[in-house]
Amino acid sequence: MVYATRRFEFSAAHRYWRADWNEERNRHVFGKCANPYGHGHNYTLDVTIKGQVDPVTGMVMNMTDLKAIINTVLGEFDHRHLNEDTPYFQDQIPTTENIVRVLWRLIAPKLPAGVDLARLRLYEMNDLWAEYAGASEASFSRSYVFAAAHRLHAPDLSDEANREIYGKCNNPKGHGHNYTLDVTVRGPVDPETGMVIDLTEMDRLVRGILDQLDHRFLDQEIAWFATRTSTGENIVVYLWETLAPRFEGRLAHLALWETKKNVFEYAGTGAPQNVS
Ligand SMILES: [Zn+2]
Ligand SMILES: [Zn+2]
Repeated sequence: MVYATRRFEFSAAHRYWRADWNEERNRHVFGKCANPYGHGHNYTLDVTIKGQVDPVTGMVMNMTDLKAIINTVLGEFDHRHLNEDTPYFQDQIPTTENIVRVLWRLIAPKLPAGVDLARLRLYEMNDLWAEYAGASEASFSRSYVFAAAHRLHAPDLSDEANREIYGKCNNPKGHGHNYTLDVTVRGPVDPETGMVIDLTEMDRLVRGILDQLDHRFLDQEIAWFATRTSTGENIVVYLWETLAPRFEGRLAHLALWETKKNVFEYAGTGAPQNVS
């Protein structure tokens, strides 16, 4: 089985609003997304298909055919108001989680025999996306940034060995990064809000931990790193161990970008999570 992914884009307006809730409750749960006339996004959709490689063409599916299918589906969404101009959001909020599930329902049956939809990932913004693989649960991800100094230095090794292993990162006074943490939660989509997790609540849970690291020197100021080298590997494990209890089983995956060139991923010690 080979997986192939193609990226698509569309632009659309939407509004989060439940007619059976009063203004105050809509505002409380949906914030600015409840503004009366709606607002819009440039959505990015990553479509992943899976299948056997055709021995003649060498392809799982001709990408031209896939493009034709997806563009037909997205034709109903592109440059439209999702609540007003499509039939799909009369009884559900056009959240990223709900839009990606509607797209799944529309795309999956249109694929040719022998080709299956493996995964859809829909970005509402660069730092906010939902993923769906046809199961009862969806995943929701958001990126957070914090800035911190650190020094790579293993106390069990000699100064010379530290300089050899860590190079510039062993600089005695430290250096720093803008770290980006991609936090993925997984669970059922709440039928009332259309969300896997309340975004405000997620922000509060994550920022509560990241604010302890932000604009700090990790090795000096965070006790956990007094005995552990502040590598990306150790930081992502630290973040998992501090965040997971707060999410009560819903935390699915963490990806810690130290720079744009290197990322460290961790999903706890349980079964590997199929998130990307
Ligand atoms: Zn929006
Ligand atoms: Zn560094």
